[in-house]
Formats: sequence, C-alpha cells, structure tokens
Amino acid sequence: MATIQKQALVIGAGTGGYPCAIRLGQLGVDTLIVEKGQAGGVCLNVGCIPSKALISATKLAHKASHAEAMGVSFGPPEVDMTKMQAWKGGIIDRLTGGVKTLVKANGAEYRQAKARFLGPGRVELIGADGSSDVVEAEHVVIATGSLPIEIPGFAVDQKRILDSTGALALDHVPGSMVVIGGGYIGLELGQTFQRVGTELTVVEGTDRILGTLDADLGKLVARQIQKDGGKILTGAMAEGWEERGDKIVVRARVGDKVEEIVTDVVLVAVGRRPITAGLDLEKIGLAPNARGFLEVDARMQTKVPGVYAVGDVVGQPMLAHKASHQGEVAAEVIAGKKTIDDARVIPAVVFTEPEIAGAGLGEAEARAAGHEITVGKFPFAASGRAMAIGETGGFVKVVMDAKDERVLGIHIVGPEASDLISEAALAIEMGAYAPDIALTVHPHPTLGEAVMEAAKHALGEAIHVQNRRR
Ligand code: FAD
Repeated sequence: MATIQKQALVIGAGTGGYPCAIRLGQLGVDTLIVEKGQAGGVCLNVGCIPSKALISATKLAHKASHAEAMGVSFGPPEVDMTKMQAWKGGIIDRLTGGVKTLVKANGAEYRQAKARFLGPGRVELIGADGSSDVVEAEHVVIATGSLPIEIPGFAVDQKRILDSTGALALDHVPGSMVVIGGGYIGLELGQTFQRVGTELTVVEGTDRILGTLDADLGKLVARQIQKDGGKILTGAMAEGWEERGDKIVVRARVGDKVEEIVTDVVLVAVGRRPITAGLDLEKIGLAPNARGFLEVDARMQTKVPGVYAVGDVVGQPMLAHKASHQGEVAAEVIAGKKTIDDARVIPAVVFTEPEIAGAGLGEAEARAAGHEITVGKFPFAASGRAMAIGETGGFVKVVMDAKDERVLGIHIVGPEASDLISEAALAIEMGAYAPDIALTVHPHPTLGEAVMEAAKHALGEAIHVQNRRR
C-alpha cells in the first residue's frame, strides 16, 4: 500500500469530475482523478451521447420515410441495430479515450480505482485487482453521479425489464415497448424505437407527460407519439407484470380500473438517485440530505472543510452541462480564485420529436414567482425556413416581464430547439430585455428568426404573425 500526496483528488470522471480535473491541471494544482467505471461517466457511456446517436439515426430513418411530400421517395428503411450499435460504440470510444488524453495533457493524473474516505483528507483507492493505496489530499471533489431509480414489481433484468442503459444497448428493435415514466429519458428512448417500428405505450403517473414544463410544450410531443400510433396513459400507476406466452403483460392502475398492456419489453424511466453509498462519508462527518443529495454552497463546498461536490450528486437539474459548470467552479475555488456558481440559467433540452428546449422561467413559474408577464409566441408554421425543411410544428415562446420588458424565459418546441436555445441562455445570462433580441438582426432564412419574432410579438411588433391588440 502506497501513500500518495496530492493537492486535489477528484472522485468520479463523469461530466462533473473530468472538466474539474482538467481545469485544476490548467491552474497548476497537483491533481489525481479516480474513476471506478468508464471515463466519461453516464453522459458519454450510457446517457447523453449514445442516446443522441440512436436518436439521430432513427430520426433519419423516420424522415426518409416521410419525404414524399418533398418529391423524394425511398423504400421502407432497413434498420440494422447491430451496425447502429457498433457505430454508436465508435463514437463513445472516441469521446471516452479523449477524456483520459485531455486530463493528462492538462497535467492531471488519471487512475482507475474505487474511492472511499478513511478520514479527513485521506481516501483509499481500491483497484480492480484488490490493490489498495491511500491518497492524502487537501481538497477532495465528490463527483460520483447518479443511478436509475427502480420501482417495486419491476426488477431490472436488462432483457425484458430495462433501464435506460439496457434500452441503449438493445441489439434489435423490439416489437413493442411500455415506458414507465413520461419524463425526458423515457420519452426520448421510447420515441427512438417507435420511429423504427416499435409499438409504444407510455405509462405516466401524473396527469400529463413532461409535467415539469409548461403544458403547451409537452402537448406537441404527446400528439406526435399518438400520430405515430403510440398510446399515452396518464394518471396511471404501473403495478406489476407477468409472462404470457413469449410476451409480458403489464398491469397499470388508472383510477379504479386496472389496464393490461401486452408488450415485449418494459423501460423503467422514473428518475435517478444520487450515488453516495460506498464512499464512507461518515468517516468525514458528511451526511446526505433527506433526498440523498449532498448539499453545497455557491462555491461547491460541502459543510466539511476541503470537501466539494458537483454534478448529479448535488441535485437538480441532473444535466451534464450543469455538472461540468460546477466542476469548473470547484476547480477555480480550489485554485484560490474568487469564483462562484452564479449562472442565471441552466438551459434544458428534451431530444424528443419535436425537440423541446428551455432557458429561464416558464409561464407558470414566472407567475408563481410573482411576475406580471407578457408572452410572445411565434409559430414555426410561419417560418420560411421551417417550411423549407418540412418541419413546421411548434413555436418559440418568450416570457417577458410586463413592467420592464426583461426576458424571464424562452421556451422552444420544434426543429433544432436544442441548438436555438443557446441564444436564449446568452440573452438571459446577459440580462437582456425583449428589445435586445427583437432589434438584433437575425440572418434569413433561419429558424433563429423565430426567436427574434417571438420577442417582437411580446412587444406587439411581430412582422410575420398577427400581434395582440395592446
Ligand atoms: P456521472 O456521469 O454519473 O459520473 C460519475 C462517475 O463517478 C461515474 O463514472 C462513476 O463510475 C464514478 N464513481 C462513482 N462512485 C465512485 C467511487 N466511489 N470511486 C470512483 N468513481 C466513482 N444530460 C444532459 O445534459 N443532456 C442529455 O441529453 C442527457 N441525456 C441523458 C440520457 C440518459 C439516458 C441518461 C441516463 C442521462 C442523460 N443526461 C443528459 C444526464 C447526464 O448524463 C448526467 O447529468 C451527467 O452524466 C452527470 O454527470 P456527473 O459527473 O455528475 O455523474
């Protein structure tokens, strides 16, 4: 057993941990990052990247089979899941290999091992072969991420009862799939397979899918799922399942009735829980809160001096870009800079069909926060570019403070919402007023013009849609 001296130790090389180690290296802090699984964590291996790869491949197949109106016809798409999985695997390999290279290139050390606290500033690293070393570090960053939540009656076997990791690894297109949970992960993956022929049923406990967003945003995704032949059961609680021949039957309670849904596979996607078990946090006197998350201040510091936490393990929003931002903040704090996490918005994207993206407050949130608001909306049906790409569903919505015209939030449902939202995030981060966006000349013909037009609509000055009477 060796004792290693480091200024900083980062536990977990996901999108929270590895940018933290890179930034620490850049700032000249002697740093070790330790990872028990795969470099890149959930996002690169079994989350953001593999899901977006499968989404883009199946979107292409769907779009190709719906291009007749543009005068282009293909035969029915043939999907080779083995090849698609191999292509996806190649992307993951390139990105995860890049993580280790970047960590080293920036002067930090990478090591494969499981970490657990022995005491303040002392962490044991246990290698896959059972070997053990001790790191003594003044600063320790916990970036251990999260795991899918399981629900009673649906033990995940990754054959018939899948979590997101199992769904992303499927080597065939299932004939039918029940998705339990109408949040972003379940819908993104459910639609991925629906686009290439899977019969989809979504079982959601509350009264609508994507319930944390304004209702008008999720409605278009629900409509698309139904248009593609899928079913959505809301107010429905999945209670259990049984085998029937080579199928399984899922029981879902809707009010006082029990519905039976015959399916090939079930995807359980009801949320994620933080990982703190196995870290022996009691050895340093650190306890997670009642929901299992580690609490931190704006400098990503826990209550224990010298111990920081970033990413999914500190709570919502559980998103990769939030994790990276927090990782970089922690690194700068450790290096002695006066940095805090003062991001005004963390944009969020749902890569469904159509895509949904938001930055800042929704209508309901803004009203609940006491703002008097004006909402500007511009439908993609009025956008020349949207017509030219054959994707006219959806809209851009600008939530503006009615008193001073400040932009409180921008929400987009429709084509390329995931890329369009960065303009909104920049605007809100810079404290923009609606005229700042309305008076910014946007290139034509682009989808981005819809953001400008929605800001103009909030001001009663839209050119390509009818303005409200003021
Ligand atoms: P993780 O990525 O979970 O990394 C934590 C790492 O710590 C893991 O590699 C783990 O092995 C390691 N670790 C844990 N304990 C120890 C220990 N004791 N010792 C050593 N190592 C340890 N987010 C987005 O922003 N956009 C998306 O499109 C998106 N899509 C997603 C799709 C799916 C299917 C899923 C599941 C998630 C998606 N996410 C997305 C969420 C995103 O993946 C997470 O928010 C992000 O991975 C969090 O990063 P993290 O570093 O906090 O944790």
